[in-house]
Amino acid sequence: MSKRDYYEVLGVAKGADDKEIKKAYKRLAMKYHPDRTKGDKALEEKFKELQEAYEVLSDDQKRGAYDQYGHAGVDPNRGAGGGGADFGDIFGDVFGDIFGGGRRGGGGQSRAQRGSDLRYNLEMNLEDAVRGKSVDIKVPTWVGCDVCDGSGAKKGTQAKSCPTCHGAGQVTMRQGFFAVQQTCPTCSGRGKIIPDPCTKCHGEGRVEKTKTLAVKIPAGVDTGDRIRLTGEGEAGLHGAPAGDLYVQVHVKDHPIFFRDGNNLSCDVPISFSIAALGGEIDVPTLDGRVKLKIPAETQTEKMFRLRGKGVQSVRGGGVGDLVCKVVVETPVNLSDKQKDLLRQLDESWGGESEAKHRPKSKGFFDGVKKFFDDLTG
Ligand SMILES: [Zn+2]
Ligand SMILES: [Zn+2]
Repeated sequence: MSKRDYYEVLGVAKGADDKEIKKAYKRLAMKYHPDRTKGDKALEEKFKELQEAYEVLSDDQKRGAYDQYGHAGVDPNRGAGGGGADFGDIFGDVFGDIFGGGRRGGGGQSRAQRGSDLRYNLEMNLEDAVRGKSVDIKVPTWVGCDVCDGSGAKKGTQAKSCPTCHGAGQVTMRQGFFAVQQTCPTCSGRGKIIPDPCTKCHGEGRVEKTKTLAVKIPAGVDTGDRIRLTGEGEAGLHGAPAGDLYVQVHVKDHPIFFRDGNNLSCDVPISFSIAALGGEIDVPTLDGRVKLKIPAETQTEKMFRLRGKGVQSVRGGGVGDLVCKVVVETPVNLSDKQKDLLRQLDESWGGESEAKHRPKSKGFFDGVKKFFDDLTG
């Protein structure tokens, strides 16, 4: 279910100051207070909604987050903890219904139509996604006409009440016994007409323009996350409110790291001798190289977990881990001498000593032998 806009809940303008917000809250709180509405579930919900809206809009920090990211910026169910957590809650399933109709129109026909929401696909590399980044994006969109201030009427003139519907936006058509309400064909339901349209926007109140916006991408975003910029979508017709802009994040594949949630993983090749004897190797992290101890007798594909070397969650909470999978590399381009050493080595662990030095091989081939013995009876 989509949540109502907090400003709408309180019935105040977006730019309302603290006093206006407090006043609006007091007035509505009196009206919907449970002491008065006694058991009316719908009104109880309204009261809750009102309290939630006030809690956010009366707090500068929360209000800022809400203005920038919408409900997700302050979702109380996600429990943002202090310190930089404002960004923590900006994403997720609360956006599930954002592109639905919910907020558009719905009321009377003559209601002004809100501008469309826009979506911007932002591709970024893993490092930027992990650390956060400010990016300038260019968005072709509609903006309010500055000549007529969005009214659509030529400077010095005004829109007039529609002569067909007298401002109602609807007309009643009679067909036999039936009276049918229809959107007024003259004004398309607006209730007003513009006799003298603005020459710049041709009466639409908005013009096409490519906007450049500075967007702050919080640290920890991942593919599929999106950031809402309230009011940065297309301007509505005839001065109606603008839609929102959604920046959809897509993180490109990284040559070294694979990301899974807040964890990173990578494959690290190690030499056959280090795997056998143990030693220290360099492994990459997003903050540079770190040393990793390899114990003796490490088998290929063993995983080593480096705690806290993953990604800081954008939703608040912990930092993920880096999981390094060591892969034993078979040596190539060997010299005759090296080949000779390996042959000596091979001889040294064959025969009687195989069970001791190569228990896996021994176990495996014993199993294979048994299989064929059983088969031939
Ligand atoms: Zn104009
Ligand atoms: Zn009309």
